[in-house]
Parts: sequence; structure tokens; C-alpha cells
Amino acid sequence: MHDLDIKYTHRLSSDESSGCPYCDTFISGHKLDKAINHLISAHEGRLLHIGSEYNGTDDRGHTVHFTVAMLAFSTVPPEKSPYQGPRIRFTVAEDGREIT
Ligand SMILES: [Zn+2]
Repeated sequence: MHDLDIKYTHRLSSDESSGCPYCDTFISGHKLDKAINHLISAHEGRLLHIGSEYNGTDDRGHTVHFTVAMLAFSTVPPEKSPYQGPRIRFTVAEDGREIT
């Protein structure tokens, strides 16, 4: 069925947003199609399954489902280091002035 040597699988859900496991692209759960396209085209992912996931009922008694997708990859994503973005440091003097 799949000739891919699967080393890693990744689950996407229409209810969850996260970062791409392979790069810094943000993946919005509301744009599940774009997330799937990104993982396939940018990282050679293979779509294994797509379907719905039952998530109980809302406060009006309506059944809630999310769409979930499972993708497979032949490589394990790199370890991501903790956020290393810009850091802002400032000191506030006792009188409330910002003195950097
Ligand atoms: Zn990516």
C-alpha cells in the first residue's frame, strides 16, 4: 500500500493550531487543507488517513466533530530548540521611569 519507509507520523486536527514539525511555518487548524498541502509539498509527507473525530456535544446538544488527518514521513523532524526570539530587557527605576 505504502512504499514509504515511515519514521514519523504527524496528526493534524481542524481544532488545533501548531507549528510545522519540520520548519517554522504556522499551521492553523482552520486551514487544514493548507496544512496538509504544506506537509506534502514542502516535506514530502504522505497522507495516510483523513476523517472525523467525535468530540462530544456542545451546550445545545449538537454533536461536535473535528476533521483529523494523519501524515507519514520518511524522516524524523529535527529537535526544535526553545524559542530564541528577541528578548526585551528593561529596568524600571523606583520612580517608575524606564531606564533600559
Ligand atoms: Zn514545514
